[in-house]
Amino acid sequence: MRALASRLIIACVLATANGVLGAVPGAVPVAAQGSTHVKTMPARPSTPADAPEPRSDVKEPAPPTQVGPVVADAASVTGNQSLTRLALELTGPVEYQVFRLRTPDRVVVDVSHVEFSIPATAGRDGKGLVSGFRFGAFAPGKARVVIETAGPVQVEATRLIREGARGRHRLELDLVPAPSVDLSEGEVAAARESAARLHIADATPAPAPPALKSSPAAPRVPVIVIDPGHGGVDTGAQGAVGVEKDIVLAVGRELEKVLNATGKYRVVMTRSSDAFVPLAQRIRLSREHEAQLFISLHADSLEARELAHAIRGATIYTLSQSASDERARRLADKENAADLLAGVHLPTEVVQDDVKSILFDLMARETSGLALNFRQLAAKRMRGSIHLSRDPQRAANFLVLRQAETPAVLIELGYISHVDEEKQMLSQEWQRKMAAAITAAINDFFATGSSIFR
Ligand code: ZN
Repeated sequence: MRALASRLIIACVLATANGVLGAVPGAVPVAAQGSTHVKTMPARPSTPADAPEPRSDVKEPAPPTQVGPVVADAASVTGNQSLTRLALELTGPVEYQVFRLRTPDRVVVDVSHVEFSIPATAGRDGKGLVSGFRFGAFAPGKARVVIETAGPVQVEATRLIREGARGRHRLELDLVPAPSVDLSEGEVAAARESAARLHIADATPAPAPPALKSSPAAPRVPVIVIDPGHGGVDTGAQGAVGVEKDIVLAVGRELEKVLNATGKYRVVMTRSSDAFVPLAQRIRLSREHEAQLFISLHADSLEARELAHAIRGATIYTLSQSASDERARRLADKENAADLLAGVHLPTEVVQDDVKSILFDLMARETSGLALNFRQLAAKRMRGSIHLSRDPQRAANFLVLRQAETPAVLIELGYISHVDEEKQMLSQEWQRKMAAAITAAINDFFATGSSIFR
């Protein structure tokens, strides 16, 4: 076992106003006390100390010698309140960056070209200063570990250690308590860079929709956007064995398949894989495709575990400034925080813009009635085959539903915190039933002429 820390390169990548990126290299000490450092490790195990590899293009961090992604196959948290260590076991060397975020306190580890083969629930329980961690894809070529801490911490040391001759490595982070979090310039720059990276991915034009098989002159058919919530580093709610992001993707794909089989619609998925997609991008996709219906899929979870066995069932939500009840309000807060928990702040244009919000109000009246229609149809079609919650038609202020031109609903498929319901939601039989019920409601919606058809 030998430490690889031959030389560390600080890569403060700054996003300029027009989104062009530039790299400002410099050097930092290995374990700077009192500040978190942003490092990029050479991907090859034996890079000479005097020759850091040039980074000609920050958009393409893959070193040419790398064959396939490195796999992270285990993660552990050890230690106590005075020193907590997070270790990530890897099949090869990686480039990484570490920085902290505030409100809530988090430590973010960005790793290039890594895939995870660790159970998604692995980070549910914390230890010492770590209350839990989540991991997964973040941006193209970049994976992320978000470590939630009980309070402010300092990253005392990070190291990439080579283990044995097979090229395996272990990435270790040592966290110690800190009186407060004063983010260093490097940390702020790293957070900006990660946001810019998403922006680059976001600016990539959506792939051209596949033409309908039936006709080369593709008739105008309703566009339906299916939005499986969460994804990648944003796991969503965690159940006993599964996580929300996987369940909603499975149902989303099933729904896509069933809808495509009808030949009556064009289906656009906000994600078809385990990818992180910011809320703003989901909304943009819907607008760009001029969707006539937007269906966001989620799974709820109850914090109070003592009540978890008693609360279950699906609920269909529409957008409302004021929530139907306190639980709906808390749920919307939780779903709206998806980007924040993944280490991305919501772009201001989504959150606040007076002029836009007035326009939104005016136009939304037209579509909100349609969303209410669909909500009712969905509840009717689910009843009988799907367990519904006590009050299955509710409303709350979900950011992803703020779409003036498209009727949008958010379906909480069930409670992942309910053991039996989770088991059901994981089964293909249930997923098929759910997809069939939603499809029937969509058919009703477009058959009754209650939809807008531009
Ligand atoms: Zn969710």
